[in-house]
Amino acid sequence: MAPLNITKGVIDEIRSKLDIVDVVSEKVLLKKAGSNYKGLCPFHREKTSSFVVSPEKQIFRCFGCNEGGDAISFVQKTEGFTFYEAVVKLADMAGVTIPVSEKEDKDYGLRQSRKQEFLNINILAKDYYINLMKDKNSDVAKYVKGRGLTEETLKEFNVGYATGAWDGLYINFVNKGISMAKAAELGLVKEKTGKYYDTFRERLMFPIQNHSGDIVAFGGRIIKDVPDAPKYLNSKDSEVYTKGDVLYGLNKTKAFIREASYVVVVEGYMDFISLYQAGIKNIVATLGTAFTEKQAQLIKRYTDRVVLFYDSDDAGIKAAKRSLPMLLEKGIKTDALFLEDGLDPDEAIREYGFDKLSKMILNAGPLLGFVLSEKFLKDKSVDDISKSTSDILAYIGLIPDAVTRLLWIKELSFRSGVTTKELNGLLKRYIKVDGQNYNKEQKQTLSIKMTNKVDPLHKRLMAVFFADPSLSQRVFDDDWSSYMPSELMNIVYEVKTLYAERKNIDVSGWIEISRKTGCNWIENLLTEGLIDKKNNFDNPEKEFSGCMVRFKINHLEHTKRDLLKRIKEGEDTENTLREYEAIIKDIKRQ
Ligand SMILES: [Zn+2]
Repeated sequence: MAPLNITKGVIDEIRSKLDIVDVVSEKVLLKKAGSNYKGLCPFHREKTSSFVVSPEKQIFRCFGCNEGGDAISFVQKTEGFTFYEAVVKLADMAGVTIPVSEKEDKDYGLRQSRKQEFLNINILAKDYYINLMKDKNSDVAKYVKGRGLTEETLKEFNVGYATGAWDGLYINFVNKGISMAKAAELGLVKEKTGKYYDTFRERLMFPIQNHSGDIVAFGGRIIKDVPDAPKYLNSKDSEVYTKGDVLYGLNKTKAFIREASYVVVVEGYMDFISLYQAGIKNIVATLGTAFTEKQAQLIKRYTDRVVLFYDSDDAGIKAAKRSLPMLLEKGIKTDALFLEDGLDPDEAIREYGFDKLSKMILNAGPLLGFVLSEKFLKDKSVDDISKSTSDILAYIGLIPDAVTRLLWIKELSFRSGVTTKELNGLLKRYIKVDGQNYNKEQKQTLSIKMTNKVDPLHKRLMAVFFADPSLSQRVFDDDWSSYMPSELMNIVYEVKTLYAERKNIDVSGWIEISRKTGCNWIENLLTEGLIDKKNNFDNPEKEFSGCMVRFKINHLEHTKRDLLKRIKEGEDTENTLREYEAIIKDIKRQ
C-alpha cells in the first residue's frame, strides 16, 4: 500500500467527527460521572475507576497510572500502534478517507466537497419539508395528532411533510439552482423521459442522520391509504448513504444508551419516535434491515446489551432471529421482547404506558433462549431433535465468551437430552477461532509511564504556558533563552510559533506540540491539569517570572560549579576567579 498522506486537514476532520468517548468505549465500559465519563483503566489493573474521559476537552486521563492523551494516543497506547496506524484506524471509524498521494489529495478535496454538496442538498430538502408542517389544519397535522406526536418531538427529529404535489421539491430546487442530477442521485427526485418529479409525496418525512449527525437520507411514512403505495419509503443508497450502515436516532441517544447500559432496538423510525417521546430514550432503529456488522460495531461502542423490540408477528420474529448471529458474534448480549398480544411497539407504549413497558423491556429474556425453546417445543422426532441441536450449537459457537458458551451448552443439554460432554465435543466444529477482541485485551502490556522523571521546573513552566501561551514570546524578548536547557527551548519555540499562528492553543494544539517535540510528558501533564484544574494560576505572569529566575539561578549554579572545577584543576588565572566572583554576586542578586 502506498503511504497515505496524513495532513492536518485529515486529522482535523477526524477530530470533528469522532468523539473520544466513542473511541475509548470500544475498549472501556464508561459511566457518566458529572460532565466526564469514568471507567476501569485499560493501562493498569484496578478495581475502582480512576480512568476519566472528558468529552469537553476530548482527552483521557488515568489518576492511577498517569496515562493520558487524546483519541489518537489512546489508540496508539491500547493497540500498540504507531501514530500513523492509529490515524488510519480512527479515519476508518470516522468515515474519513485519507488521500494516498498528492493527486489523490486533490481528488480527496474534490470528493469531500462533492459529499458536502450532497449533504447540503439534504439539508435544503429537510428545511423544505419542515416548512410544509406549519399548516395546522392540513392532513398531516391531523395525522400527527392522531399518532399522538408532540410538536417538540417532531422538532427534535426534524420531521417534515411532503405534500401530494409532484413537483413541490423539484421547483424549490430549481429556484435554488440545485443540480437535479445530484438530487436524483440522492433519490429525492426521479427522472422520467427528461422530466423530474418528486419521489416522496403525501408522506411524513424523517431525515435519517448518521451517528455524526449528517443527514444522509430520508424516510417517508404514508399518511393516507393510497392503493399500491408502500407504507414506508426510504431513500436509495447514494454516495452519502448505505443502507445498513446507519442506526436511526443514535446521534441523539448515545448518551442515554451508555447511561442505561443497554439499548432498545426497534425496526422503524415511527416506533422509535413514539417510544422516545414516551421516555424510552436509550433506543435506536435499524430501518428494517437485519443487524449488519457495521451496526453491531456501532452498538458495541456504547453497550454490550441489546433488547430487540420488534413486531411480535412472524415477520418481526424472523427479523429478530436474522440479527442474532451478527450480535452474538460481536459478544453482544442479545435479548428480545415479543408481546403475547401481538402489539407492535407503538401500540404497546399506548397500551401499557412508560412504567410498565420499560419494565417489560428491561426484563426481556435472551433471544437464544427463545429460539431454543421454540425449536424443542415442536420438534419431537429424533431427526428433528438432532437438527435443532446442530442449529443451536451453531449459534453457541459464535459466542466469543467461553463461560457464556458453557451456560448455553447446559441449557441445550437439558432440552435435547444430549450430555454436556457430548455437546462440548460437537461444539468444537462450530466455534469461531477468531475471538480476537478478547485475547487482545489480555495481551495488552500494562505500561506505566514514568512522568516523575521530568524536571518539576519544566512541568511548572509548561503549566504556565497552558494558562497563558503568549508568555512564550517573553522568553525570547527578555533574553531568557540562554539560561534554559536546549530540549526545553525546543518546546518554547513550538509554543511561540503555534501561538503566533493561531492566537490560541487548544488541547489538540498542545498534543501537537507534545508529538512534534517528542516530549510525551506534556500530553500527560496537560490531561492531568485539565481534568484536575490544578494548573490555574491567578497570575501566570508572576509564575512565569518565578520560573525564569529559577532557570537563571540553575544556570549560574551550574556555571559556578564548572568554574570551581576549573580553578581546582589549576586553571587559577585571574579571569576565572573574576568570573567566579561575578557569578556568586549574580546568584545573590536573584
Ligand atoms: Zn491507569
